[in-house]
Amino acid sequence: MLESMVQFTVLASGSKGNSAVLAAGSTRLLLDAGLSARELCRRMLTEGIDPATLDAILVTHEHSDHVRGLGALARRLGIPVYLTEGTHREWQRIVNPPPRQTYSQWIEAMRARRAAASTEESTHEAGCAEANSVATLAASEAIAEANADGGAEEAESNESELGCITSDSDAASATVDPARLPEVHYLRPGEPITLGDFEVHPFTIPHDAVDPVAYVFRAEGLRIAVATDLGYIPPNVAAQLQNCDALMLESNHDLDMLRDGPYPWSVKQRVLSRVGHLSNDTASEFLEQSWDGRAACVVLAHLSESNNLPELARVAAERALASHTANLFARKLLLASQHEPLETLRF
Ligand SMILES: [Zn+2]
Ligand SMILES: [Zn+2]
Repeated sequence: MLESMVQFTVLASGSKGNSAVLAAGSTRLLLDAGLSARELCRRMLTEGIDPATLDAILVTHEHSDHVRGLGALARRLGIPVYLTEGTHREWQRIVNPPPRQTYSQWIEAMRARRAAASTEESTHEAGCAEANSVATLAASEAIAEANADGGAEEAESNESELGCITSDSDAASATVDPARLPEVHYLRPGEPITLGDFEVHPFTIPHDAVDPVAYVFRAEGLRIAVATDLGYIPPNVAAQLQNCDALMLESNHDLDMLRDGPYPWSVKQRVLSRVGHLSNDTASEFLEQSWDGRAACVVLAHLSESNNLPELARVAAERALASHTANLFARKLLLASQHEPLETLRF
């Protein structure tokens, strides 16, 4: 008889892109799609995972380092996407902002409107219309700027580069709606769902996104918890991270490196806030004081490249884990990387 197995492959982790594959029985789930669809496929293939065998994509939140390749990959594979309604709406707003008028188009529109107005109504109304248009234009500019800041996902042209998945190519067409997904399912935090051989438990995390979640995956009697992008660990999150076989936990920054580092003050404040990211200290404090120490494998994740060093994160976690003597020598401590997949964990 074939031995059953649960597999967990981190494809990328960090502020430039996050994604992992979970496999059990005949089910394969992609957790976040934060690299280009092309790069996600490339990394899956190097790890021996055929992208065409993915059954669904689960999303934690709408930040670009978690959704960059989402639309392109989901459309290309024709697979459903699971996320909270808030995350979906915000993602749609980011990838498909209202059309932006050029100045000459706006002038043209104003002329047409004035001409129409002068034939019937008073000039007063035309004035109102003008005020509205200016407001609309300003709003679309603000949105476009926000998107340039780190919203939007990869350009649609990347879809044509997905030779790794299929040769058929209806994709490169400029008419593809970037917010279209083949199938969308809304998750409610706290309400588990079954996806093939997995039971998936989404739960709310404190992070500056619209409705962010982290997940516990259960299959074949095993529990894998994945929690990154959280400002601190409230009791509901701490409870989910107990009794796991594997735990992937954020260890984003070293506090001194962040304080002295290159980020502008406002960004430092954001990272440090209760809806920002977990520091090495906070992660290890949790591991030492509030965690049951059961997992045979701990993966430190979402390490900042500007404000952390792998060795600092590792030493802090090692020190914390040493307090759990039960399976001290059997336990693996791994660091997920931004630039290459982590060895597949098999349970
Ligand atoms: Zn992130
Ligand atoms: Zn985030």
